[in-house]
Amino acid sequence: MFLTTHTIASLATLKISSNPIILFGLNFLLHYILDSIPHGDWGAIKGFKNLIANYAILFICDIFFVITIYFLYTKSNPVNTINVLCAITGSILPDILWGMYYVTKLKFLKIFVNINYYAHQVFGVQEEQKLYFLTQILVIFISLMIIY
Ligand SMILES: [Zn+2]
Repeated sequence: MFLTTHTIASLATLKISSNPIILFGLNFLLHYILDSIPHGDWGAIKGFKNLIANYAILFICDIFFVITIYFLYTKSNPVNTINVLCAITGSILPDILWGMYYVTKLKFLKIFVNINYYAHQVFGVQEEQKLYFLTQILVIFISLMIIY
């Protein structure tokens, strides 16, 4: 699932708790729960041969949206920015951790590759399927309903 989707979902959890540590942990867990639902981005951009460049571009766009959402949200809502930062960080960290494994090859990060892989297999093998993008739109829609 895109980091953008995870970020919007994490803003909805601000309604559940105002403890930054709980928000961080909750969103870290929620990331894997959301990832287990087939969500269509399990693949590369069509026509892109270089997989690393492919993921790098997706990641940069995604992070750009995450930062934009953070500023838009904190600017227009009277919220505790520490809580918002903890919620967002918890929600995007799982993907950053497995990404870091492929960049650094640090052994202790391997577990996050495995958990990520497992989360995507819970309800069967996820194939790249355009229709499943609707899942992400639905997650964003439900989250926005909770936020506003
Ligand atoms: Zn993920």
